[in-house]
Amino acid sequence: MKIQRVVIIMLGPPGAGKGTQARMMSESLKIPHISTGDMLREALKNETELGMKAKAFMDRGALVPDELVDAIVAERVGRNDCCGGCILDGYPRTIPQAEFLRSILEKDGTGSLTIGVEVPDDELIKRLSSRWTCSQCGKMFNANLDPAKAGGQCDACGAVLVQRKDDTAEVIAERLHVYHRTTQPLVKYYQDRGSYVEVNGDRAVNEIFDTIIGIINRKRK
Ligand code: AMP
Repeated sequence: MKIQRVVIIMLGPPGAGKGTQARMMSESLKIPHISTGDMLREALKNETELGMKAKAFMDRGALVPDELVDAIVAERVGRNDCCGGCILDGYPRTIPQAEFLRSILEKDGTGSLTIGVEVPDDELIKRLSSRWTCSQCGKMFNANLDPAKAGGQCDACGAVLVQRKDDTAEVIAERLHVYHRTTQPLVKYYQDRGSYVEVNGDRAVNEIFDTIIGIINRKRK
């Protein structure tokens, strides 16, 4: 498959490193990183109508209803800065979301490439329970593997690091359960469409990044 304007879908369980990779890819490829989780957390923080509707689902690790997420993605992907493509992180998460995305991309012939980042569950649990995120720029740190050099502050922008409310043992278990039941079927969905490439996410961040960029460059040729 040769790709021109393309939407890159980062698929994988919570804690697989999709956000970290998407952020690095966005910088390198100069296309926007669109994280539905970040958009929903922002809506929650600003107490918008969307945030209020999403709160109860997010607090317990459940998925926010498709129609709410579909609407924010359709609006965001339609903006001018996405005319050269974009990276979707955390969307789609259900088959109906994937079908919705296909319908909006089909309208102008935009292709998609899905990168599945795979990490075993026991490693995900370890990662999520020691994950700290910058409250300003979103950069992520791991208290065991990749701690911030400046203690509780972000190495990149100096803002305070926070632990996500849904990174508690109980909510992590529910998020993994939801992933396996509802989101993992998307692997087969995209495999069947010939647009799925799997990447081993249980490696160093830079190694994973090099693999992903290699895949994208090969598809571009
Ligand atoms: P994330 O930051 O991607 O782990 O998302 C955090 C939470 O936001 C999830 O546990 C869901 O409650 C909600 N969320 C994010 N993306 C979606 C989506 N595509 N569909 C439904 N809920 C979502």
